[in-house]
Amino acid sequence: MRLRLYNTLTRSEEEFLPGPDDSVRMYTCGLTVYARGHVGNFRTFICVDVLRRTLRHLLGYHVRHVMNFTDVDDRTIVGAQQAGMDLRAYTDQYIAMFRQDAQALGLEQVEETPRATDPENIQAMADMIAALGRNGHTYESDGSIYFKISTLPEYGKLAHLDHEGMQAGARVDSDNYAKEDARDFVLWKATKPDEPTWHEVNPPGRPGWHLECSAMALRLLGESPIDIHTGGIDLIFPHHENEIAQSEGATGKPFSRFWMHVEYLLVDEQKMSKSLGNTYTVPDLVAKGVRPSAVRALLMSAHYRKQLNFTWASLAQMEEALTRLTDCLARVDAVVVDGSHTAIAARVEQASKEFAEAILSDLNTAAAFAAMFELVRALNSAVDAGQLGKGDIPGIRAAFDGFDRVLGILSLRRLEDERPPVPVAEIEQLIEARHAARRRRDFAESDRIRDGLAARGIVLEDSATGTRWKIK
Ligand code: AMP
Ligand code: ZN
Repeated sequence: MRLRLYNTLTRSEEEFLPGPDDSVRMYTCGLTVYARGHVGNFRTFICVDVLRRTLRHLLGYHVRHVMNFTDVDDRTIVGAQQAGMDLRAYTDQYIAMFRQDAQALGLEQVEETPRATDPENIQAMADMIAALGRNGHTYESDGSIYFKISTLPEYGKLAHLDHEGMQAGARVDSDNYAKEDARDFVLWKATKPDEPTWHEVNPPGRPGWHLECSAMALRLLGESPIDIHTGGIDLIFPHHENEIAQSEGATGKPFSRFWMHVEYLLVDEQKMSKSLGNTYTVPDLVAKGVRPSAVRALLMSAHYRKQLNFTWASLAQMEEALTRLTDCLARVDAVVVDGSHTAIAARVEQASKEFAEAILSDLNTAAAFAAMFELVRALNSAVDAGQLGKGDIPGIRAAFDGFDRVLGILSLRRLEDERPPVPVAEIEQLIEARHAARRRRDFAESDRIRDGLAARGIVLEDSATGTRWKIK
């Protein structure tokens, strides 16, 4: 079994072969931690999680996966200044929120989650600037250090840039800019008086965004080329083009064999993004009664190279589909008639084969979902017709367990069912507050607490012995 994966570098689908001893070294550009991540960001991370799970659980490869936190860049610095906070303390908050949301959405924990401002990473960035300097790729201007793109003939190979349009000697300081602005980019920025400054590089300053990922990837994954580099499609230019320039300029070797990019999550045909003000976070959706498992399933339900429109109707449809899935498995589990059926075994095997083929064909999750839900339909019909026996159950369970190792949806739903939507300590505290309200005959407050919990999926039941709670 081999995975066929689309490689942005070659603009074609290629067979993916692992490294020595079935190892895969993979890097994902993580969240810029100046705000809570929105579900557009998480579309990318969930699709990458499907890739990771495919490599590990379907193909049995040994994955070492790094996903960074960009905790110093133009946006985090401005955010920390506006909040009047130390940069590290400011970004800590969003890292904690990312970890909560990632867990709620069933992302597997990756092996390494470095922060750009970790001292060993800043040192790796300084070492990379030194190597780039030795190889003649840098120059200094106004206290900043730049990468001179004319020193690297291959510059532009990922984004397919036209060298004719590049302006020799012109510079760009911002972390993000358009393709039309391809020009010498900043590696290390002169800092303003009130900005965080590091002294590992001379002149002292702070890293540019692109440098951070190159340095962290090579420090934590070792010799280049690494196997796969991933991120959202908006990172192709300038971020990934510049990562290639830095890494290849420093080492003289190709940086990554494969580049995988996830298309946008849209809202009303526009990219979900903070600048457009059309974002939803996981807690925003949970507050509206949406289950994270339905969000996860929706965000992976389209092929990762196709745009996906976020709508309430599609979320509701996904919730229904997942209920159908778990209801079907519960019906199968409840079968009491003895016996097994070759037709069922054959149908299950067919679905498993279709599922694996779909996933191995450039992670075609849409086709994989279709294979799984067609099996659900077939099993429901078989139960209705009395053509499914107890002996069929283990094979069916094994098939769905196999699907779920890649999709991570059923396991997440089980956790959701076990875990109340409100932390137990908070429920108990609110019950206590409600008793206090009733003792002082503040029934409006008591009702407000009860209704508030009900809106969050917790029902209170009063009896002579006290108040009990249960999940709605
Ligand atoms: P950022 O925090 O801006 O660096 O983004 C983190 C990741 O989310 C990057 O890989 C982005 O490409 C990705 N991303 C941002 N917005 C979207 C979106 N609407 N749909 C899919 N991926 C996105
Ligand atoms: Zn990056």
